[in-house]
This record gives sequence, C-alpha cells and structure tokens, in this order.
Amino acid sequence: MADKFDVIVIGAGPGGYVAAIRAAQMGLKAACIEKWIGKEGNVVHGGTCLNVGCIPSKALLEASHKFVEAKHDFDDMGIQAGDVSMDVTKMMARKDKIVKNLTGGISGLFKANGVTAIEGTGKVVSGKQVEVTDNDGNTTTYDADNIVIAAGSVPVEIPPTPLTEGLIVDSTGALEFTETPKRLGVIGAGIIGLELGSVWNRLGSEVTVLEAMDSFLPMVDTTVAKETQKLLKKQGLDIKLGARVTGSETNGEEVIVKYTDSNGEQEMTFDKLIVCVGRRPYTKGVIADGVSIELDERGFIFVDDQCRTNVPGVYAIGDCVRGPMLAHKASEEGIMVADIIAGHKAEMNYDTIPSVIYTYPEVAWVGMTEQDAKAKGIEVKTGTFPFAASGRAMANNATEGSAKIIADAETDRILGMHIVGQHAGEMIAQGVIAMEFGSSAEDLALTCYAHPTMSEAVHEAALAVDGHAIHMANRKSVNNSVSNNEAPPFKGGANFRLCLNPQRSKERGWPVLLRPFL
Ligand code: FAD
Ligand code: AMP
Repeated sequence: MADKFDVIVIGAGPGGYVAAIRAAQMGLKAACIEKWIGKEGNVVHGGTCLNVGCIPSKALLEASHKFVEAKHDFDDMGIQAGDVSMDVTKMMARKDKIVKNLTGGISGLFKANGVTAIEGTGKVVSGKQVEVTDNDGNTTTYDADNIVIAAGSVPVEIPPTPLTEGLIVDSTGALEFTETPKRLGVIGAGIIGLELGSVWNRLGSEVTVLEAMDSFLPMVDTTVAKETQKLLKKQGLDIKLGARVTGSETNGEEVIVKYTDSNGEQEMTFDKLIVCVGRRPYTKGVIADGVSIELDERGFIFVDDQCRTNVPGVYAIGDCVRGPMLAHKASEEGIMVADIIAGHKAEMNYDTIPSVIYTYPEVAWVGMTEQDAKAKGIEVKTGTFPFAASGRAMANNATEGSAKIIADAETDRILGMHIVGQHAGEMIAQGVIAMEFGSSAEDLALTCYAHPTMSEAVHEAALAVDGHAIHMANRKSVNNSVSNNEAPPFKGGANFRLCLNPQRSKERGWPVLLRPFL
C-alpha cells in the first residue's frame, strides 16, 4: 500500500517545489512528483526555470554582457584588456554547472524540509488520488487529501516555422548553440525573444527580430518602451515591427523566412532561427479521462483567485493557470495554496507582480502604465528621472534610461513604476514594496536613499511627481502652497492620504489606510 499524503504536488518547477516545501514547513506530509530528465539522464528538479529558463538564460546574458564591457567599455575606464574573445563552449559549461548546482540544491531542500520526492509522471485519477508512472512503466497510486497541479508550460510552435534540428529552434535550443551564428533570426519581440536575441547579438551575430505587432513592448509604459527600443537598436538589434512570419524553408544550412509587413511579402535568410512566440500551458496527461477538472478556452486549468480548481481539494498554480508566466508568480501561488491547505488565510496581490526583461539595460515594471490608467479613466500625475542626471550612473558608465512613477492624481497613491536602466530588475522591488504597502509617491519622496546609488533615480522620480525633483529642472511648476503639518503637503486639496510610514501619518494627524486583508 503506497503512502498517503496531506498534499501531493505534481511538478517541481518554481511553483511546485515551493508549494511542497511550504506545505512541509506548515506541518503537512507533502510529496512532489517530477519527471524532467536532465542532461545526465536522471530526474532533475527546478522545472523550466532552473533547467531551460530563467537561470540558464541569465547565465548567458551575464557572460555576454561582460564580454561586451571588456571589448568595448573597459578602454574608456583606462583598462587595457587586450584582444578579448569569447569561448562559447566554456560559457555554456559554466551555465550547465550553475543549472546542475541549483537543480541538485532543490533535492537537498526537499530532504531538509521533509518533502518526499517521487520520480515519474503524475496523473490526477480522482480528486484524492494521483497515479505515478516511473521510467520503467511501473505505476503506483498515492492517496492525498489535497493535490496541487504545477505542471508548467512549454514553448508555442507555429506552423510556418516547424522546429528543424540545428536550424529552427525554440528557446531551449537557443540556450545550447555551440557557436555564434552569423545571421540570427528571432521571431517574437517578447521578453524571451529580446533576451536571447541580446545574448547572441552581443557575441557577434547579426540579429533580426521579427514581431507581428506594430507596437513594441505594449505592456511597458510608452515612454520607457520607446527608450528601450532606441537603446536596443543602438546595440545592433534590428527589430522589425509589423512583420508577421508566414513561412520558412530550410536547405540544410540556412533558413529562409517569409514574412509580411506593410510593404507586402518579404524574405530573409538566416543561419539560425529562434522561435519565441510565447508559451502554452502544459497539461498533457496530467488529468485522467473522467476527472472533470475544468480548463479555460485557452487550455489553462481554470482556477479562482486562490488557485482552487472546480474539484474540491485540487489546486493548480504557475504557468498552467491564468496570469503572467513568471517564476516568482508561480512561487507566490505555491506559498498561497500551501498556506490555505494548512488551514491559514492567504491571498495574493496580482496587481503587484513585477516583470523584468534582462536586456542591457534592464527593463522592469510593476503596476499600471500611464496609458493603462488613462484607459481606465484614472487621472494620474507622473514623475520621470533620467539616469543621465545620476552621479552613480555616470560613475558606472550607465547613464542610459530613466525611472518613471505613475501616481493617482487625487490620492498620490503609486499605481505603477517603470524603469529602463542598469539594475532596473533590482530597483523595481522598491515599487513592489511601496505598492504592496499602499504607498504614495510622496512617501518615497520623503524616504532617505543612500547616495550615490542608481536607486536615487527612483527617489527623484517620486519627487518629480509633484515637481520637486532636485537634480533636474522640473517640467511642471513646483507646488509650494501647502507645506505644514496641518494639511498634507504637495496634495492639491485631497483630505486624506495613503501612507507607508504610519508614524509619520500619526504625527501629522493623517489617517493611515492599510490594504485590507481579504
Ligand atoms: P515549470 O517551471 O514549467 O515546471 C513544471 C514542472 O512540472 C516541470 O519540471 C515538468 O517536468 C513537471 N511536470 C509536468 N507534468 C508533469 C507530470 N505529469 N508529472 C510530473 N511532473 C510533471 N520567469 C521569470 O520569472 N524570470 C525570468 O527571468 C524568466 N526567464 C525565462 C527564460 C526562458 C528562456 C524561459 C523559457 C522562461 C523564463 N521564465 C522566466 C518563465 C519561468 O521559467 C516560468 O514562468 C516558470 O518556470 C513557471 O514555473 P512552474 O512551476 O509553473 O512550471
Ligand atoms: P511573448 O508572448 O511575450 O513571449 O511574446 C511573443 C511574441 O511573438 C508576441 O509579441 C507576438 O506578437 C509574437 N508573434 C507571434 N506569432 C508571430 C509571427 N507569426 N510572426 C511574428 N511575431 C509573432
């Protein structure tokens, strides 16, 4: 008789392994099933993120960025690096070593937390039972009071460009090139396409990105997206917007891609083509026939705000359910469902999930764009600060980009933060925390930032929301009519404010509004 568990998780990606660890920490008897076979032929944990996603891509992005710095930027600082070259094999070996360390680390974390790791393919056969088929085809059925499906996602393939060994690859294939292709095509100017295109562009490929949409990064604030497009173009990425790929041919050595744009039918020839047109939920074989777990019209497992499926006791999280396909979103959902299963109240704030594009400079954002807010009829005020005016950015040789804050015009509450600049991915955490605490732009403006830091640009952007930036000329007139403790300064008449710092609010006699716990 197989073991019975309080919770069985299917999939050990960042959603599943985090859910299993958290459940064990909450005192539950937890198991996690994984089927991914790694490069060494054994089952590995970590899912897409650790094996073929976040981590390996960042290893290549960092190495290729350092290469560019050594080749082009060191001289300016007086460093004579000589003839700089890239050993692609060594770069890949380093990436593989990082992946191996991290995936092995998850097994260690399972042991340390008392999670039972089960190797094989899991299938929900009833609301309380999971069948596991191991590599030899043997099946075992486990009972569980609760089941969490965290089966992840896989790259989308499109009929015009079927994957062709060594020539047309998906993101996984693009992490395994053994040499730098001379002419590289990338389909899709989304996060993954821009990151992988950047890696190979930096190493010397002539990169063309074909994007069907007319707009560039529509999810990012227009000011920041336009700046990003300009910067990537300057680096040599040829991003063709409004270019829809319709077909391809291969001749064993190169790929001829057909696409249509405003001038009609076009053709380009590449040595390699990466297809980065998105990812789709992976639910194949995870749900047995006869188990009525609902999927939505796009194939995602249908869940409520707390990741409950329509079958009591069965939850689904991460890339196989609605919401952004991001590792940290999957992990937070993992923590939430484990807490719910353990009997606690738990919720997730889907409005404060940050996104980062790890190009150089990085692009990072959280919350609304100015255009989103306007479309919703929300009156906003914004503050933008360019890194060109930052002392630390000058010292870092990183003056490209800017930080922008979008705040509600009436309450001053921060609605969004969008940054393009060196370390934007680190800086955006300030926006996430501020929004999570219902902070006003003024709260950030009145916060003491270390000098000199790149983050001071966020401080200045917050000051600029009300025309008070110190280190640049403010476009809007400074509002200095209210600046005492009887009324909120810089507020233009609102009689309440949201405040990150309760002490400050108390001293000023302002009500503190906290985010309600649902
Ligand atoms: P996955 O990581 O896909 O894990 C699902 C796991 O379930 C897999 O291990 C799979 O083998 C297993 N599984 C599936 N079915 C079964 C079954 N029946 N039985 C047993 N096991 C099963 N996100 C970020 O946040 N930041 C980034 O920088 C980032 N970069 C990326 C770069 C690339 C190139 C790619 C491809 C993705 C990137 N992502 C990034 C996205 C991120 O990897 C995913 O959002 C994340 O991995 C989703 O986690 P998950 O746990 O839902 O699914
Ligand atoms: P994302 O979903 O963020 O990974 O981005 C994928 C991108 O691929 C989107 O911006 C799509 O518009 C783009 N895309 C999808 N199909 C095609 C196609 N046939 N030709 C060019 N771009 C495409």
